[in-house]
Amino acid sequence: MYDENNIFAKILRKEIPCDKVHEDEFSLFFNDINPQAKIHVLGIPKFPCTTFSDFLKKADDENITTFFKSVQLVINNINIEHTGYRLITNSGEDGGQEVAHFHIHILAGEKIGSLR
Ligand code: AMP
Repeated sequence: MYDENNIFAKILRKEIPCDKVHEDEFSLFFNDINPQAKIHVLGIPKFPCTTFSDFLKKADDENITTFFKSVQLVINNINIEHTGYRLITNSGEDGGQEVAHFHIHILAGEKIGSLR
């Protein structure tokens, strides 16, 4: 069940600000408020979906493609394709997800440590 009061829903409704990196019709990218690397951008689709799995269930193929192409556009714009990056999406309790609106973390700008 999607919670309309989650923090990313509030950002999408412009009730709270964000440090925007990129926006298009379908997605919004902004800097993480508590960065875990020199570059830490979050990317979210603009429609209500809780997790990666929920996103894939609810979005049509065009929207799924558009979202991931926007991820690549941001990677291009911030010039990290050749130095490298890590994409993460946390899902649910075991995945350690804190905000229940599907999002992708883009971590870059330095060597990202091992996962554990
Ligand atoms: P997750 O644990 O995958 O759900 O990640 C949620 C992320 O959202 C964390 O990295 C937080 O630092 C980040 N976050 C929470 N509130 C905000 C906010 N208002 N603006 C930007 N990032 C936020």
